[in-house]
Amino acid sequence: MPPTTPEQALAELYAGNRRFVTGAPHHPNQDAGHRAAVADGQHPFAVLVGCSDSRLAAEIIFDRGLGDLFVVRTAGHTAGPEVLGSVEYAVTVLGTPLVVVLGHDSCGAVQAAREAVRTGTSPSGHLGAVVDAVAPSLLRAAREGVEDLDGIVDVHIAQTVEALLARSTVLAGEVAAGRCAVVGLSYRLSAGEVRTVAQAGSPVTPVPAPAAPADSALAG
Ligand SMILES: [Zn+2]
Repeated sequence: MPPTTPEQALAELYAGNRRFVTGAPHHPNQDAGHRAAVADGQHPFAVLVGCSDSRLAAEIIFDRGLGDLFVVRTAGHTAGPEVLGSVEYAVTVLGTPLVVVLGHDSCGAVQAAREAVRTGTSPSGHLGAVVDAVAPSLLRAAREGVEDLDGIVDVHIAQTVEALLARSTVLAGEVAAGRCAVVGLSYRLSAGEVRTVAQAGSPVTPVPAPAAPADSALAG
């Protein structure tokens, strides 16, 4: 059974990420039988609002497959109208119980915004819109005394969680009703691990990494 509560959904993501980190992925729901089974409808258990970074491939780092994750990705996981509409669709029409904001260390979008603020210039073309969307997080980080890039990334993840709720009354209503939660996860590129840095809604706690489960040895 796919997860139906925010807690179950986050636990499933953490379990999949642990399999990925330890080099023991199951590649669930990626076979032809499952492809056929979900062709008539989708019930993803998590909406993922992530950075577009090519190293942040959602189904790979959470060890999931077809029909599991509703994924919206932009450079710097910005929360513009189309992103908000996509999240609202998943939460209200598909009934998805968890929204995850996924950022990562060494984020190029955050670096670009930092450079733009430092130099007082904005990139040309539509890249400027990405920088403008990330800039408020830089100001917040400065107010909070956070100066290192990866610390700023975590502030930006928390800022994005709050922005989703502040800009989408639909999402805020679902969270207030207890049908959905929003959680911010920070991913480390080299280790492949996620950790929770922000959350809103029903209590959602990270699942501790299991130490070498005995049953995996038996299964092997
Ligand atoms: Zn990024």
